[in-house]
Amino acid sequence: MMERIISAERKLAPVFARVQEVEQLNFERVLAAFQQNSVSVRHFNPSTGYGYGDDSRDTFERVFAQALGAKDALVRPGIASGTHALAVCLFALLRPGQTLFYASGAPYDTLHGVIGIQGQRDGSLLDYDIAYRQADLQPDGTLDFSEIERQLKEDPTIRLVALQRSRGYSWRPTLTLEQIGKAIELVRSIRPEARVMVDNCYGEFVQEREPLHVGADVIVGSLIKNPGGGLAPTGGYIAGEPELIEQCAYRLTAPGVGREIGSWSAGYLPYYQGLYMAPHTVAQAVMGAMLAAQVFADAGFSVSPLPDEPRGDIIQALKLGTPERVIAFCRAIQASSPVDSYVVPEPWGMPGYDNDVIMAAGTFVGGASIELSADAPMREPYIVYMQGALTYTQARYAVAKALAMLA
Ligand SMILES: *Cc1c(COP(=O)(O)O)cnc(C)c1O
Repeated sequence: MMERIISAERKLAPVFARVQEVEQLNFERVLAAFQQNSVSVRHFNPSTGYGYGDDSRDTFERVFAQALGAKDALVRPGIASGTHALAVCLFALLRPGQTLFYASGAPYDTLHGVIGIQGQRDGSLLDYDIAYRQADLQPDGTLDFSEIERQLKEDPTIRLVALQRSRGYSWRPTLTLEQIGKAIELVRSIRPEARVMVDNCYGEFVQEREPLHVGADVIVGSLIKNPGGGLAPTGGYIAGEPELIEQCAYRLTAPGVGREIGSWSAGYLPYYQGLYMAPHTVAQAVMGAMLAAQVFADAGFSVSPLPDEPRGDIIQALKLGTPERVIAFCRAIQASSPVDSYVVPEPWGMPGYDNDVIMAAGTFVGGASIELSADAPMREPYIVYMQGALTYTQARYAVAKALAMLA
């Protein structure tokens, strides 16, 4: 097995070098954010109660904003997940009678209930008379610019245009920043009054810039994915234009008090340290994904993205073709984990999914997908999605183990 790993690494040397260049640039932006905000040991202190004047929290938000190219950011442990952050943003920026327009096809599964895509009320956007429409992606997975243009012209109630950067769990390329920038230009030319939100989950620090650098108004993500660096124990963020961030703060806590309240009695050390580590952790995860792509492509499997294809997120899809291989792969990932390594993953009928699903994650932070993890719906053509790894070494170990278990 090790010869196959080493031969893959030899082929990957030039792409790995490029990943390290991106890491260096992102590191320098993060470091500058820490230094220019004079981060000190006292900023790691916890707070209690209302959290009025919580300098640790406020400084962290400034550092985080700068690191992601934002003028302002709401970054809170009290945001429970990426879905929560996205829901706060959608409800904050839309009003009854207006329309949310997803220009990158159907959104990530957990947003369907937030939007009310299948007619769900239960406090969804639909329940508040906020309409929804989407432009599907083209068959090759890229944005359909003529369809986006048509819909923008057709519907004057569109006030928020959403773009999902990550491929999510589908066999399509990620949106590159170039495509995101082009879509934003199109929106500006037809509906200058509309705002553009990018679901940035899994995308942070994968490229040398972020969607805000190409003109997005607001980006949203989870701290137990890329920007928490594997250390943040929970939380989410919304970053971008200050007046939009203020609206989001009013929605997150209460109108009037907004961002002035919110304490965190466990202390902010893992947030600062996690952000500091994030460019490195993400680079490790990206290199792990590339290694899996190369090794499985060499073994004759279809992989997406290809080992040397430009990446916009940390997800690697491997088309393994049979349920047995998918199960073996997930078991290899679990058995390569520091936590719950003895657990043997089994496919099961998870609520909200049409097929049985198998998941592997032996993570320090519950469900953190910046840590090595894999999952697959048990259906044709039996694709497994792998992401994360706090260290390249662990990803390398896991890929070798998966090869051995599939042999
Ligand atoms: C993970 C993810 C979400 C939802 O985040 P959770 O933290 O799981 O709620 C939304 N969009 C994309 C693209 C994601 O990858």
